[in-house]
Amino acid sequence: MSRLDEIRNTIKTEVARLKESHRMEQDVFYQAVEEVLLSVAPLYLSDPKYARHNVVRRLAVPDRIIKFKVAWLDDKNEIQVNTGYRVQFNNTLGPYKGGLRFHPTVNEGVLKFLGFEQIFKNALTGLPIGGGKGGSDFDPKGRSDMEVMKFCSAFMTELHKYIGPDIDVPAGDIGVGAREIGYLYGEYKKITSRYNGVLTGKPFFFGGSLGRPEATGYGVVYFTQQMLDEMDKEPLEGKVCTVSGAGNVALHAIEKLLQLGAVPVTCTDSRGTLYDPRGLDIELLKELKLVKRASLEEYVKAHAEAKYIPVSEYPEGGHAVWQIPAYAAFPCATQNELTEVDAKALIKNGVVSVTEGANMPSTPEAIETFLKAGIAFGPAKAANAGGVAVSEFEMSQNAQLQRWSFDEVDRKLKATMIHICKTVVGTAKEYGVEGNLVDGANIAGFKRVADAMIAEGI
Ligand code: NDP
Repeated sequence: MSRLDEIRNTIKTEVARLKESHRMEQDVFYQAVEEVLLSVAPLYLSDPKYARHNVVRRLAVPDRIIKFKVAWLDDKNEIQVNTGYRVQFNNTLGPYKGGLRFHPTVNEGVLKFLGFEQIFKNALTGLPIGGGKGGSDFDPKGRSDMEVMKFCSAFMTELHKYIGPDIDVPAGDIGVGAREIGYLYGEYKKITSRYNGVLTGKPFFFGGSLGRPEATGYGVVYFTQQMLDEMDKEPLEGKVCTVSGAGNVALHAIEKLLQLGAVPVTCTDSRGTLYDPRGLDIELLKELKLVKRASLEEYVKAHAEAKYIPVSEYPEGGHAVWQIPAYAAFPCATQNELTEVDAKALIKNGVVSVTEGANMPSTPEAIETFLKAGIAFGPAKAANAGGVAVSEFEMSQNAQLQRWSFDEVDRKLKATMIHICKTVVGTAKEYGVEGNLVDGANIAGFKRVADAMIAEGI
């Protein structure tokens, strides 16, 4: 084979690889679209207007996808190039709203999938926010502060053209915390000379909202309280609860459970499960995870009755945390952390409710197992919407140049979670799937957006 043919073959292989990865990227997105649409079938049956107005086709295509080059100089003065994205999916209900993710796995398909889901989560809050998502394949891990700052500046140099407090308001997500939001916001102000609420998740001292760090975890518990009440189950007070994760969502869920008089006995990190049968010591946990960034294993030194179970001792196909008997379970760590094996163990041990704090923590098989067994199951789309709700409160405060007290934010958060739960439970009942809050959440979120789209015309 000639050298020229070799080069052509290499090019062909590369193009085939790109085509295949593009197809796979899009597969993730279409799978999510199919799942949501199948679950809203009862709505279509109830009213032909949704088919007549071609809502599916109009909702499944993003309003626009902005894709751009991010070139920046690393610490060795070498030029690095990443790809940036903003998927402005749907602004029927308000400005596009959704996080920015900086992670090597970011691609257009993943962001379309996340943006699509965000439309319905945001709709469920009842607040005026549309759906979007964005980010880059840049990995902040292992990068110096200066490199992260340079990347954020380069990213915002392009992104600022497309966002604004009443256009599109990004927030943080994986790889985008307070540090990155600070650098992005600083660059936005430098370029535009505008001080406004264009980003949320800002630290309190320059425009963030009190109560935002607590919002998702507290919201998950408020949702569960209401779900138990709606389904005529006993309240959380005095009940043993199992929680996974030991990050922002998990620690605040544990804190709220303790405040309510429940007994949270577990939390997890990527290395193992901590089990304290007498109830967790939240102050020690916060010190270990938020201040010292130490392993959960350290906890046992101060509490001899507690036990630490390393990942190596987990059951085949499952997780130690879900083998522990509990009245209510709260997966708050990461995706696919609760499998069918875990679901069966929880049910065998008498679990009454399962509420998703993390995004997609339960596998589809686990969800089906819970629903078949009649467990009160709170899906992430509804149960963890407290975070985005308080982000909207941050937008409101910024727009009015005001600051609300912690109690005011917490009161509004609780009211929002009760509203979401009532809507989801009521919708499931109305459309013939009583007790199935997965379908209830999809139908309620979809209906709010679809009705507004129809009212606003094409
Ligand atoms: P954090 O990064 O603060 O915490 C995640 C926690 O989960 C860490 O303690 C981590 O342990 C642990 N963890 C990670 N992988 C595993 C695993 N395989 N098994 C057990 N534990 C694990 O994230 P957040 O608390 O902010 O978010 C958690 C989830 O909630 C994510 O799915 C996120 O998308 C979702 N979410 C978060 C919102 C928010 O406001 N923060 C809003 C809505 C959803 P380690 O320290 O070892 O890595």
